[in-house]
Amino acid sequence: MSELPDGVERRQFDGESRLATQGEPVYGEPTDGEWRAWDARRSKLGAMLETGMDTGLAGGETVLYLGAAAGTTVSHVADFAGPTYAVEFAPRPTRDLLDAAEPRDRLFPLLKDARKPETYAHVVEPVDVIVQDVATRGQAAVANANAQFLDGEGRLLAAIKARSEDVVADPSEVFERELATLREAYEVLETRRLEPFHDSHLGVVARPK
Ligand code: SAM
Repeated sequence: MSELPDGVERRQFDGESRLATQGEPVYGEPTDGEWRAWDARRSKLGAMLETGMDTGLAGGETVLYLGAAAGTTVSHVADFAGPTYAVEFAPRPTRDLLDAAEPRDRLFPLLKDARKPETYAHVVEPVDVIVQDVATRGQAAVANANAQFLDGEGRLLAAIKARSEDVVADPSEVFERELATLREAYEVLETRRLEPFHDSHLGVVARPK
C-alpha cells in the first residue's frame, strides 16, 4: 500500500476506518468536527488512494483539477494540497463548488471548458499535479490538451470512465484506446481498475513526456 499524502489520514467513523482530510464538510460526509471522511465511492481519486495506487502525492502540491463538479473530491484535495484550480464547465454544480470554496482559501473555481485550456492559461500557473475526472467523451484528449501546465516532474492522476467513451464496447478495449491517445503526451506509470468503488473506471498515473 502506498503512503498517503500529508494531510490525509485514516480515521475511525462509525467504527469504520476511512480516509479523511481536515476541513469543512461539503457533501454530508461524516465529520468529527475536525476531520471529515473522504468517501471513495464518491471520488475516483479517493478510490485511487484506497486501492493503493502510487499517486506520488505528498501534500502541498499545486493542483489543476479538471471536472470539479460540485466539489466533492476537489474540496478534499484543497484540504491537503497547495493552490488548487478547479475547472468545471457546467454552471449548476459550479454554484455548489463556490460554496465548497468559500471556507477554503486555496481553492479557486474556474467556470471553464477543460477542452479549451487557452481560456484559463492566463490564470493557472504551472502545476505539480493534474487531477482529471471529466467523464466525457475524449477523456485522454482533454488530458493531453492540458499537459502544458505540468512541469517535467509533474503527475497526471486521471480516471477514465469507459461508458463515457462507448456504452457498448468492452471497457478493456476502451481503456487501451484511451491509453494509446494519452501516450502521445504522457508516459503511463501505473493503471488500475477502480472496482469495487467505481465500475468500469480505470485509474491512471502518468507523467509528461
Ligand atoms: N470529479 C468530481 C468529483 O469527484 O467530485 C466528479 C466529476 S463528474 C464525474 C464529471 C464532471 O466533469 C461533470 O461535472 C461535468 O460537467 C464535468 N465536465 C465534463 N466535461 C468537461 C469539460 N470539457 N470541461 C469542464 N468540465 C467538464
